[in-house]
Amino acid sequence: MASAEIIAVGTELLLGQIVNSNAAFISQELAADGIYVYHHTVVGDNPERLKEVIKIAENRSDILIFTGGLGPTEDDITKQILAEHLNKRLVEDEFHMNKITEYFTSRSRKMTENNKLQAVIIEDSVVLNNDYGFAAGMYLKANKHTYILLPGPPSEMKPMFTSYANPLLVSENGEKIILESKIMRFFGIGESQLAADLNDLILNQVNPTLATYAGDNEVVVRITATASTKEKAAALVKDMEEEILRRDGTFLYGYGEVSLPEHVTAMLLERKMTIAAAESFTAGLFQAEIARFPGISSIFKGGMVTYSEEVKQSMLQVPAEVIEEHGVVSSECAKVMAENVRRLCDTDIGISFTGVAGPDSLEGHPAGTIWIGLSVKGNEPEAFQYVYGRDRNHNRRRAVKQGFQLIKHFLETNK
Ligand code: ATP
Ligand code: MG
Repeated sequence: MASAEIIAVGTELLLGQIVNSNAAFISQELAADGIYVYHHTVVGDNPERLKEVIKIAENRSDILIFTGGLGPTEDDITKQILAEHLNKRLVEDEFHMNKITEYFTSRSRKMTENNKLQAVIIEDSVVLNNDYGFAAGMYLKANKHTYILLPGPPSEMKPMFTSYANPLLVSENGEKIILESKIMRFFGIGESQLAADLNDLILNQVNPTLATYAGDNEVVVRITATASTKEKAAALVKDMEEEILRRDGTFLYGYGEVSLPEHVTAMLLERKMTIAAAESFTAGLFQAEIARFPGISSIFKGGMVTYSEEVKQSMLQVPAEVIEEHGVVSSECAKVMAENVRRLCDTDIGISFTGVAGPDSLEGHPAGTIWIGLSVKGNEPEAFQYVYGRDRNHNRRRAVKQGFQLIKHFLETNK
């Protein structure tokens, strides 16, 4: 299969003044064509170094795609250098010459000589029309290589590539390849554990490929397959997905770009189940999170931040005895908090968060010891303990996610 090298010409790129987005764009297009890109090269507007780059690229790639340096100024040297290297003449392209001349005549502006340079092409090339500018592009075959010259500005380069260069490339080298991918989202399992569980799949990956990413207390797995048809690619993805589910399916919470809170909120909205929250160490984080989603007012009634023991008693009516006997970092306190907020706000679900955010310990419990209480109308309240680390704000965010996970679990097991 043909291999391509993308050569971006421009000193601005080397200086870091612009980012080589042209290479990214062309690479993505070529991937879909089934043409391999093994090298991206960036070279300044310097004749010697450009020549050097051309020679290196010819030794390792079949297709050389240049962007930049087709303009009218002194530093635009791409086609001049390539013509010299290939021992070819530069000739005028009538179509682009007329276009430039017309532009200046219609505006009664004097055309400077260098403008004509943009209509000059390397002999024997197929001209690639520039629908959004003046500089002509080129598609040229010589010495068993294909050379494509595109202008630098993305607004000119992209349409020229898509409309003119790519169809030629595909007809000569391409094998149309369909790409299918799927994102699986996990909660409650660390990236390293998931990667270990999928180790053999990751090591032996060819098609589909697998990648894991760690998000904010979540892990995301992306499966990507290529095939000649959409159906074949989708079938490859499905096989891999099923294998992953067999191993770690219990931790999966959803697919695609939907986060866990968004997913759970959608479930609550669908079931029209109202919710309220009583928060101690998360101090409103859960409520802030749920309020992010539009339409939430039909199910989210409100809640309380009850940080101190006194406020837990006065506002949330947690009996003094519960606190005296069990402390605030306790199953009992979490249950009463969840139950009471549900009752006080008159909702279907009450959730509570109480624990030791850290970094210091509390009531003899190490930092990161937390309880989440869940009270659902018609059910006995429950409480769940988790022990995290010492990072205070990480613990707070993680607890909120865990709260959403508990609600999800409840909804799934009580349909
Ligand atoms: P012009 O006729 O505008 O001079 P050109 O073909 O000579 O076009 P360059 O002079 O190399 O191209 O670059 C012109 C502009 O195009 C740059 O200032 C930059 O904004 C953009 N550009 C050039 N190369 C790239 C690249 N590799 N990625 C993204 N943008 C680029
Ligand atoms: Mg230029």
